[in-house]
Amino acid sequence: MSATLRPLIPAERIAARIAEMGQQIRADHPDCSITVIGVLKGSFLFLADLVRAIPGDVRVEFLGVASYHGGTSSSGAVQITQDLRASIEGHACLIVEDIVDTGLTMDYLLRTLQVRGPASIRVASLLDKPSNREIDVPVDYVGFTIPDEFVVGYGLDLGELYRNLPYVAVYEP
Ligand code: 5GP
Repeated sequence: MSATLRPLIPAERIAARIAEMGQQIRADHPDCSITVIGVLKGSFLFLADLVRAIPGDVRVEFLGVASYHGGTSSSGAVQITQDLRASIEGHACLIVEDIVDTGLTMDYLLRTLQVRGPASIRVASLLDKPSNREIDVPVDYVGFTIPDEFVVGYGLDLGELYRNLPYVAVYEP
């Protein structure tokens, strides 16, 4: 049986929402450089568009984490696969995620980065699936709240496929 990709969020809506988020993020960080921390790999397209929507000074760092191991449900275990290259001590940081689902990954990231002495840490996620939350985490900037369905596209994968779709789709096996 072949899988179906049901379009959920078209590219135009993603672009319009990211433009708003960029302005909001800058308004909340007046007169300072923002260290944007992209969580690999799923955030790479969102991050690329978001940093271009944030006026003023921005630094870009990447953090690799693994939490899903190629399937459509979380293993619950979070692991850093690539650490930051630079210190974030004293920096205004923005963690950029593709999706917050159970919240376990974000909780782990916040606890891991908080001890490094940043001036502040905020969180931006393209997608939020609050119905599946297991742990309460602050998500300061949400692109779109979606139902508890497995989505792919615009950076999000299933077994490393579909990241290159320019829109977000529900994966229906
Ligand atoms: P959490 O730890 O919040 O459960 O999950 C965070 C990570 O799980 C995300 O960064 C993403 O990699 C993966 N994830 C959660 N929901 C989905 C989904 O619907 N589609 C895809 N492709 N990945 C998801």
